[in-house]
Amino acid sequence: MLFSPEELPADRLTLFVDVILPLPLPKLYTYRVPYEMNDQVFVGGRVIVQFGAKKVLSCIVAAVHEKPPAGYQAKYLMEVIDETPVVTPPQLRIFSWMAEYYMCTLGEVINAALPAALKLSSESRIQMHPAYRDETNEWRLSAQEEKILYALSQQPTLTFTEVGNLLQTSHFHKYIKSLLLKEIIIIFEEIAEKYSPKVVKKVRLNQELLNEPEALEKLFDELASKPKQVDVLMYYLQKAPVHQDPNLNFKGLDKNLLTSNPRLSLSAINSLLKKGVLEQFEQIVSRFPVDDSVKQMAFPLSEYQENARKQILDFFAEKDTVLLHGITGSGKTEVYIDLIKNALEGGGQVLYLLPEIALTAQIVGRLMKVFGDRLGVYHSKFSDNERVEVWNGVLSGRFQVVVGVRSSIFLPFHDLSLIIVDEEHESSYKQYDPAPRYNAREVALMLANFHGAKTLLGSATPSVESFYNAKNGRWGLVTMNKRFGTAVLPETELVDTRDEQKRKNMHSHFSAKLLEEIQERLKREEQVILFQNRRGYAPYINCNDCGWIPKCKSCAVSLSFHKFSHELRCHYCGFHERMPHSCIACGSTDLKTVGFGTEKIEDELKILLPEANIQRMDLDTTKNKNAFQQIISDFEANRTNVLVGTQMVTKGLDFENVSLVGIINADSIINYPDFRAHERAYSMFVQVSGRAGRKGKKGKVIIQTGNVAQPIFQKVMENDYQALYEMEIAERQLHGFPPFVRLIKITVKHLDEKACDEGALHLAGELKNRLAGPMVLGPETPYIFKIRNYFLNEIHIKLPRNHASGKETKQQIALAIEQIKQQPEFKNLRVVVDVDPA
Ligand code: ADP
Ligand code: ZN
Ligand code: ZN
Repeated sequence: MLFSPEELPADRLTLFVDVILPLPLPKLYTYRVPYEMNDQVFVGGRVIVQFGAKKVLSCIVAAVHEKPPAGYQAKYLMEVIDETPVVTPPQLRIFSWMAEYYMCTLGEVINAALPAALKLSSESRIQMHPAYRDETNEWRLSAQEEKILYALSQQPTLTFTEVGNLLQTSHFHKYIKSLLLKEIIIIFEEIAEKYSPKVVKKVRLNQELLNEPEALEKLFDELASKPKQVDVLMYYLQKAPVHQDPNLNFKGLDKNLLTSNPRLSLSAINSLLKKGVLEQFEQIVSRFPVDDSVKQMAFPLSEYQENARKQILDFFAEKDTVLLHGITGSGKTEVYIDLIKNALEGGGQVLYLLPEIALTAQIVGRLMKVFGDRLGVYHSKFSDNERVEVWNGVLSGRFQVVVGVRSSIFLPFHDLSLIIVDEEHESSYKQYDPAPRYNAREVALMLANFHGAKTLLGSATPSVESFYNAKNGRWGLVTMNKRFGTAVLPETELVDTRDEQKRKNMHSHFSAKLLEEIQERLKREEQVILFQNRRGYAPYINCNDCGWIPKCKSCAVSLSFHKFSHELRCHYCGFHERMPHSCIACGSTDLKTVGFGTEKIEDELKILLPEANIQRMDLDTTKNKNAFQQIISDFEANRTNVLVGTQMVTKGLDFENVSLVGIINADSIINYPDFRAHERAYSMFVQVSGRAGRKGKKGKVIIQTGNVAQPIFQKVMENDYQALYEMEIAERQLHGFPPFVRLIKITVKHLDEKACDEGALHLAGELKNRLAGPMVLGPETPYIFKIRNYFLNEIHIKLPRNHASGKETKQQIALAIEQIKQQPEFKNLRVVVDVDPA
C-alpha cells in the first residue's frame, strides 16, 4: 500500500515498511519507522536496516503501511538514504513477476538487478573523490564530515564499519550521503573497482576579457604583430562564439582541439596561456562521450529494408510482438535504427538488447553515431560506478535509448515504447547461475507488456519457439532474404573427412581442400575465419600403454590439455595442474593427446602455413580486458590473415575482407545430447558462414564432417531455415518439447553420492504425488554427474503449454522441495530450480 501524506491524521502514526533485502529470503521483512522519519519513507527508496545480529545493510522499501508484522517485534529502521526512488513502480512489478515465474526470491532478483554501488553494507567502502581538491573546496563541513575526510587523508579507503567506529555511532550514513552529494567522496564495493572519473583538460578565455567592454578588441590590437596568436584566438571564438552566448566560455574547449590542430601553433597556444589570455582548467566528463563532429545520420534504407520497416509498423498497429527474420548481412541494424528513431519521436524510451556487448562493439559504435548522448550502454565489463551512471541516467531521462546485455532488463525505465531483442536465438540471453535464472528475451516480452511497449525480435536463425509464435499468428513475421548492396550469401561446400582420410588427404585436422582454399585466400590477401567449438589443445590425454586418462578430482570430467601453459585444466571448476611427464598409473612416457581444440588448430596451422599471420580468439586469449578489442582491430586492419576461434567468432561480427570460413569439425556440434542440438548446430553454422562475403566479393564456406548424409547440412547449404524449422517442430511435437510444453529442470546436489540419489528419488516421488504423474521425468544422473564435488541428479517437469495452473504447479514444486529438505537426512541437499532451461 502506498501511503499518501494527505491522509495523515494530526497525531503521531506508527508506520512500518516492508523491505526487500538483497538476500535469498522467502518473505519481505518488516521494520518500524522512527516517528521523525515518517515523511521520509516511500516505496522504491533505500533504507538502512540491521538484519540479524551483526549485518547492517541497505534495502529497498516495497510497501509503507500501519500493520505490525505477525510473529515478531519489528526493529526500527536505522536511516533513510534516498530522497527520490532508485527503483520505480514498473520495476518492482517486473521484479515480482520474475521472482514468481523463475521460482526465486525477490531478494535474489534485487541482488542481481542493482549495481553493487547501490547496495550498501557494512563492507561497502568509501574513498576520496579522485577529482576532489582540498584547496578548492567551498563547502562548509560538519565536524563529523571533517573527521571522515581527515581519516581518508591518512588511509585511502574506509569501510562503513570503520566510519561507524570512527564517529562512534551507527547513524553515520547521513554524513556519507552528504559528502557524496558534495562530490567529495565516492562509494564502491571492492578495492579492485576503484573509480576514476574521466578528466579532460580544457581551455577558455580569461573571463575578465569578456566582463570588460572592449577588452577583446584591445587585445586584438595588441596582438597585431603576433598573427599566430590571433589565429588561435580566432579559432577559439569561432568554435565557442562567446560574443553571442557568454555562457559558452564556462564550458570552454577541449585543449586537445587546439593542440592537435595542425593549423594552430603550439607555441602560440602556450604564450596565450602564459599571458593569462587563455586559462586552462579540468573537467570531469561522462564516460559516454559524444563527439558531435562524427555524428551521422542514419543511412537511408534500401527498398527491401524500407518494406520490412513498413510491415513491422503495420503489424505493430495490431500486435505487440514482431519477429524479423533477416538473413546475415541483410542489414537488420539499419532497420532497428530507423524504428528506434521513430519510437523516440513518440517520446518513449527504447531498450536494445544484445547477447554480448563485447562481441558487438561495432554495433554500439554505429548507434553512438546516430543517437549521440541519448544512448546509454550497459554491460558487465563496466565498472560498478559506470553502471550506476547508466542507472541514474535512465532514471533521470538522460538516456532515452539503452543498448545492453541481458541485465539491462533491470534498469529503471518508466516509459518504454520499444524493445529490440537482437539475435534473439542466442542462449546467452539466459542466465544460468545464480538465481534469478531468467531468459532476458522472455523478460523483455513481459516488460513490454507492463509498459504497453512493442517488441521486435530479430535473427537470421530464429529460435524454434519464436518462429512458432510467428507462424501461428500470435506475433507478426517479417522477412528480409537479401543481403545489403551487392553482397550475396556465400557458397557452402561439404568435405567428407572419412573419405579424405582413406585417400590420405588429411593433414592432421585439415583436409587438402580446406588447406588449398586457405592458401588461395592468402595469395589474394583475403581473410579466413576457422571455427572449432572447443578451446584448449586437446579435450583429454591418454596413456598409450595402460589407457589411463587424467580426470578432475572435483568433477566427473577429463582434464583438458593446454599446451601454451603446459597444463591440464578442468573447464568446469578451474582446477589446473602441470602436465605430467609420465603416466601416473604405469609410469609410461607414452602419453598422447586425443581430440583437438582451438589451440591445436592454431598450432598446426602455424606449421602448415608458416608465412601466415594467425590469431586465436577464445576464452583463453580474451581474459584480459582489452584483448578482445585488440584481436578484433588487428583483424579489421588486416594485420591478421587467419582467425581461429570458438563460437566467439560466429556472432555478429562484420568484416569486409573475409572470403572463407572453415568449420573444422561439424560433427561434435551436431551430436550433442540435447533436444536443441540441431537447432543450435544449424544456427552456429549459418551464423559463422554469415561472416563470409559480407561486402561485394562472394564468400565460401567449407564444412568438414564425417557424416555428409546428416540432413542439417543440406539445410545449411541451401540456407533453408524453413526446412530446418519444419523438421524440428515435428520432432518437438512428437516428443513433447518446447514450444509444446514448458520445461522446468530441477537439479539435486549433494556432497554425498548416496544422499544425492536418495534425495532425488524422494523428491521425484513427492512431485509425482503432487503433480499429475506423467509430467515428472526422472530422476536421472546426468552425463557429467559431479561438478565441484557435488553429485548431481536431475528431474524434469513437462508442463503442458496451455496448462492454466502453471502458477499452481510451481507452488507445488516449491512445497515438495520444502518438505524434502525438512527431513533430517536431506537437510544438506541443495535443490536448484531452472524454469525454461536453455
Ligand atoms: P545483419 O545484422 O542483418 O547481419 P548488418 O546490419 O550488420 O546486417 O548490415 C550488413 C552490412 O551492410 C553492414 O556493413 C551495414 O553497415 C551495411 N548496411 C546495411 N544497411 C545499409 C544501408 N541502408 N545503407 C548503407 N549500409 C547498409
Ligand atoms: Zn599408463
Ligand atoms: Zn573440475
